[in-house]
Amino acid sequence: MEMSLKTNERVQEELEALEAILMDDISISYNERGCPELIKTTIFPSTANEVDKQYVCVTLEVKLPEEYPDCEPLVQLRNPRGLDDSTINHLYKSIKDKCAENVGQPVIFELIDLIRENLTESNLPTCQCAVCLYGFSEGDSFTKTQCFHYFHSYCLANHLSITKRHFQEEQDKLPAWQKSTKGFQATCPVCREMIECDIDELKTAHPPKELESAQKFEVTNDLRLLQERMRQLFSYQKSKGGIIDIEAEENKLLLITQSSEETASSESTEVGSIYK
Ligand SMILES: [Zn+2]
Ligand SMILES: [Zn+2]
Repeated sequence: MEMSLKTNERVQEELEALEAILMDDISISYNERGCPELIKTTIFPSTANEVDKQYVCVTLEVKLPEEYPDCEPLVQLRNPRGLDDSTINHLYKSIKDKCAENVGQPVIFELIDLIRENLTESNLPTCQCAVCLYGFSEGDSFTKTQCFHYFHSYCLANHLSITKRHFQEEQDKLPAWQKSTKGFQATCPVCREMIECDIDELKTAHPPKELESAQKFEVTNDLRLLQERMRQLFSYQKSKGGIIDIEAEENKLLLITQSSEETASSESTEVGSIYK
C-alpha cells in the first residue's frame, strides 16, 4: 500500500510537470479508480515555432501500467506524417532503449525530447508523393498540406486541376437550384481534409526529377498477352456469377491429391483452358 502510494506520487509529480510545460498539447486520461492510464501528445520538430517549416510530426501515446515507473511504459507512435517506415522503426528502437535505461524513474519527458530531436534531424519528408509515387529529390518543389501530407507541387496541381474540372462538369449537369453555392473546395488526395492552396501558383512548379527521368510507359507484347489472359479469366468469372465455383475448385484439389495420372492430366487441361 505504502509502495503504491509512493509510486502514485512520483507519477503525479511527473504528470503535473508535463502539463505545466505542454499545457493544451498533452492529454491525460484516467481510469475509473483515478489512476493515469494514457498520455497523448503530438510532437513536432523544433523550428523556433515556425510552423510552416515543420514537415514531420508524430503522435506519442504512452500507456502507464500500474507499476510505472518501476516498469517500462507501453509506447505507441501514431499518425506519423512525412516519416517513412525505417525512420519510425529507428525511433521505436531508441524509445525502447531509453525506457529500459530509465526503469525506476519518470521517462515520459525524456521520450518527448528524444522524439523531438529525431524529428528535428529528419525534418524533411522521407515518404513518397501519393500522386506519382516517387520520392522527393533535392530541388523538387513540394507542398505540405495543413494535414501534413506531402506532394510534389506539380503533382498536386495536376490532381487539383482534374478534380476541379470534374467538379465543374458535374455542376454544369445540375439544374440551377441544385448547384453548389460554395464553389470548388480543394481536398487532400490522401485524407480528404479541406486544404487551402493556390492551384495557379502550384502549376508553375517543375515536374519532379524522378518522374522526368522515369522510363516512358509502353504497352509491350507481353503486357498485351497478359491483358488478354486476364480478360478471358474475367469473363470466365463473370459467366460463373462473379466467382469461380467454390465447389468445383474444391473438387479439383481433391483430384490433385489422387495419384491417377489420367485425372491429373484432365485436371491440368481444365485449368489450362481458363488461362489460355
Ligand atoms: Zn509527385
Ligand atoms: Zn491529408
